[in-house]
Amino acid sequence: MSSSTLSRRAGLPALVAARRSAIPRSAMPRTAMPRSAIPLCALALSAIAAAAAAQPLSDDLKNSAGALRDAALAGTPAYDIVESLTMEVGPRMAGSPGDRAAVHWAVEKLRALGLENVRTQEVEVPHWDRGTLAVTLLGDNPVPLAATSLGGSVGTGEAGIEARVVRVTGLEDLRDRDAEDLRGRIVFIDKHMERARDGRGYGETVPVRLYGAREASKLGAAAVVIRSVGTSENRAPHTGTQLYDLSIRRIPAIALSAPDADLLAYRIAAGAEPVLRIHSTARQLPPTTSANVIGEIPGREAPEEIVLLGAHLDSWDLGTGALDDGAGVGIVTAAAHLIGQLDAAPRRTIRVVLFANEEFGLSGARKYRQMSDEDFASHIVGTEADFGAGRVWRISSNVAPEALDLVAGIHEVLAPLGIERGGNDAGGGADLRPLRTGGMPVFSLTQDGTYYFDYHHTANDTIDRIDREAIDQNVAAYAAFAWIAANLERDFGRLAVEPRESR
Ligand code: ZN
Ligand code: ZN
Repeated sequence: MSSSTLSRRAGLPALVAARRSAIPRSAMPRTAMPRSAIPLCALALSAIAAAAAAQPLSDDLKNSAGALRDAALAGTPAYDIVESLTMEVGPRMAGSPGDRAAVHWAVEKLRALGLENVRTQEVEVPHWDRGTLAVTLLGDNPVPLAATSLGGSVGTGEAGIEARVVRVTGLEDLRDRDAEDLRGRIVFIDKHMERARDGRGYGETVPVRLYGAREASKLGAAAVVIRSVGTSENRAPHTGTQLYDLSIRRIPAIALSAPDADLLAYRIAAGAEPVLRIHSTARQLPPTTSANVIGEIPGREAPEEIVLLGAHLDSWDLGTGALDDGAGVGIVTAAAHLIGQLDAAPRRTIRVVLFANEEFGLSGARKYRQMSDEDFASHIVGTEADFGAGRVWRISSNVAPEALDLVAGIHEVLAPLGIERGGNDAGGGADLRPLRTGGMPVFSLTQDGTYYFDYHHTANDTIDRIDREAIDQNVAAYAAFAWIAANLERDFGRLAVEPRESR
């Protein structure tokens, strides 16, 4: 018997217990309430109303959410879902055969786990072919470098590129250089990323990857190589999308692993003028179709009102996309599954959306946003899991000020998981951006990202990086959050609408 089967079985008694006893009357369909339970006299009613005003969450709701949280800690199918996706499908870059297989896999998996109204929504996605890449540091003793093309990069052509390397320390340094010094050269952007639990080092460094080729091309460079935007110390280069300015020449954009970037920097610091030879067959193919995959736990009282749990189904192609974002798929699917196991349905609908194409420009998220104003207004709140499988350590919100007492109530239920309360400035996840900027409130259940960027977007993003207990703690947090949000009588207000962003 596999350990995964064991943990699933170990989780069942706790769930059954939650189903039989811990889910209180208030979580049951209203019609199931006995008439005799309806109070009493005006005095009692006003006392109950006063207590309700002081307590954003009823004791019943807190208790039922707590039971769900504890049932998840006893074992969930989250790890097994990620294992199935990464082992049976594998890499699933937008537009690839793996991407199509993942859509089929997701439809089957959501149905098998008891989600209802399972369906797909077609999405146009870019289709890029990485091809092959060879980067060699020339000299008396040529060194093949561990390198990878950045997403959407052009190739070099058959002849390849051979040129001297000019090192810069970042985009500001690059923009300050004279075109004369860079024309025909290979620009090496050598910026280190700092390790941090909240992943802030990524935000500080990723502009190098996004805009390096564009900025170097403006100065006439032949190609750009960057130090990988990640914290891996292995020869595991980090891919990810980059953005050309289509009005200027597109040049190859490549990431070197950290040890290879160290080698290049060492040679330059020692006074050498290193020459690289690059040969790449990367190319852009015509756009193709993929799909968002959607499944629901339908609400019993307000089924049109949506509590959205998101993750993205696509991944990069170097590893198998276990942390990014197989983990998110596993967390939100398992959370919905656990809630679907309860006898009582939530008041509102809990909707799982597995977005297509997060990595290559959020076209799945934008497609999902194309709904009527009425449907959008029914999206009460959302959150996306897209930061690996480390333990959740903070819950932050982005809700209307009058709903902050609800956030305090939710935090109270999540606090036993070791989760602290953050501010009211949550982003909610990349795929939720079009919804958030349109006014939908969001939460971020922030995972511990200390080691996330050792593996993210590299060949080492595989299932062995995921810890069962940690991913179950995530499910506990997401399930309790979703259960509360879907059972509240109130909502989270609306956010100020931000101008639509370009991507
Ligand atoms: Zn992601
Ligand atoms: Zn990613």
